Amino acid sequence: MSRIFNFSAGPATLPREVLEQARDEMLEWHGQGASVMEVSHRSKAFGELAEQSEADVRELLGVPDDYAVLFLQGGATQQFAMIPMNLAAAEQPVDYVVTGQWSKKAAGQAKGLRKVNIVADAAGNNYTDIPARADWRLTPGAAYVHYCPNETIGGVEFHEVPDTGTVPLVADMSSNIFSRPLDVSRFGMIYAGAQKNIGPAGLVLAIVRKDLLERAADAVPPILRYAALAEQKSMLNTPPTYSWYIAGLVFQWLKRQGGLARIAEVNQRKAAKLYRAIDDSGCYRNPVAPACRSRMNVPFTLPDAALDPVFLAEAQQAGLAALKGHRSVGGMRASIYNAMPEAGVDALVDFMADFSRRHG
Ligand SMILES: *Cc1c(COP(=O)(O)O)cnc(C)c1O
Repeated sequence: MSRIFNFSAGPATLPREVLEQARDEMLEWHGQGASVMEVSHRSKAFGELAEQSEADVRELLGVPDDYAVLFLQGGATQQFAMIPMNLAAAEQPVDYVVTGQWSKKAAGQAKGLRKVNIVADAAGNNYTDIPARADWRLTPGAAYVHYCPNETIGGVEFHEVPDTGTVPLVADMSSNIFSRPLDVSRFGMIYAGAQKNIGPAGLVLAIVRKDLLERAADAVPPILRYAALAEQKSMLNTPPTYSWYIAGLVFQWLKRQGGLARIAEVNQRKAAKLYRAIDDSGCYRNPVAPACRSRMNVPFTLPDAALDPVFLAEAQQAGLAALKGHRSVGGMRASIYNAMPEAGVDALVDFMADFSRRHG
């Protein structure tokens, strides 16, 4: 059996070279005579891995020195709760922009903890467009503004960083981090669950401006407190060492690809090919406003939902897997993260053209 093109939204496809290296190092890693999974996180070898991975994140994203880079656990969802606990005082309001399922969930987790204001909500257009920045009603004295730059389910992406003045901007970049160059200094905090564009599930990357680390109230226990986690270099307790190791290999792979400017060109080209195939088909349809279509997650529908199972079965036969759309949106979704080769998008585009000729 050969490897499929895997369009899963997450956990998602990983670069083949990374998996090959992990296979080669499975039994004996880094001169240890043991797998990386079997050595102490306190060992010198693992410490070097941790340091190298942080250095690579800083290099790839150009992270300024006044930001901490943290490798956390609990998924992006745990960050939905840690952010209000750490970045806002008990009485401080917090602002959320809701452009889809994930930003809505982030606001939902914050609700029991702080006074949440929804400053803009795209529910009215079924999360197919982004409310204009001019229409956001920011709350005076808000601790931060939270948004999701790429809504993995709806396929809606911000192509500009919104301006929130001096109020720290907090971004859930789970599904588009490392997909293009980024000006980290525009953000108070960036976080991303690993299983889309970084590595295996179990790890969350967080980049936090250092002055924000100290905001947490005394009641926040150390395990949920950014300052304590930063002080312990993300090893307050045992980190998910294997996920961290794979993430480190992915960072090295990104550097070998030529960094984020190069990756962004490829991503742009892959997305343009797929959207063109949808728009020109007279068969498939993507509901998202063209100005905010995602380069990472591309939902599309067929003219008749009765064809969905046929499409999925034939696609699977053709080696194109995990194209079923999210249950809340229906239809199909192709996730085309960094690790999806351009050849995979080409194969999907060819398959779609052939399918629409036969069934369209
Ligand atoms: C997948 C995803 C999440 C949830 O991640 P978990 O690790 O399951 O908590 C949150 N936000 C976005 C944008 C996602 O794509």
